[in-house]
Amino acid sequence: MTTPALSPDDLKSLVRTVPDFPEHGIQFRDITTLIGHDEGLKASVDHLARLAEAGGAQKIAGMEARGFIFGAAVAVQLGIGFVPVRKPGKLPVETIGTDYALEYGTDRLEVDPGAIGEMEDIVIVDDLIATGGTALATAHLLRQAGAIVDQALFVIDLPDLGGADRLRDAGVEVQTLMQFEGD
Ligand code: AMP
Repeated sequence: MTTPALSPDDLKSLVRTVPDFPEHGIQFRDITTLIGHDEGLKASVDHLARLAEAGGAQKIAGMEARGFIFGAAVAVQLGIGFVPVRKPGKLPVETIGTDYALEYGTDRLEVDPGAIGEMEDIVIVDDLIATGGTALATAHLLRQAGAIVDQALFVIDLPDLGGADRLRDAGVEVQTLMQFEGD
């Protein structure tokens, strides 16, 4: 695997912060500027793919919608399959699902259990971990479907919101490319 062209610090400088979106008081860490940069997306994926490969990923799971961008690209890089973790009502088969709390509001995630092999080592990839609710719900669903989930990768960590610690408490190792203080 080639050395990523940009360091995590370089990548951090490409993330745009939008205050008060989608609600007052939220500092929205916007990856649009990161993935729109010539080398930003590829370098982010290169870093994540190295971590997933070291963790022995047999498949990558990414959450709708920004987890699809990074997760699918990591899966391509490693030559392994991708499991889409979807918003409700999108999958055309019988799903398993779970409701969970967000930093702002609530949501539901669903997966196709047929996409997941028994004891398959699946690594979770998403753009950002805040409270960890989304990633915990994803780990729960994948484990319910028979997968081993012991690693989750994020481009951005908001450590003050405690999500990475919650995942670690659930037996999931967390690695991220950068951190932003506050919420
Ligand atoms: P959580 O479930 O609280 O860890 O929230 C993670 C999800 O919400 C991620 O998939 C992000 O896309 C989104 N999100 C939460 N907080 C922010 C934030 N401050 N900036 C950008 N995206 C966020």
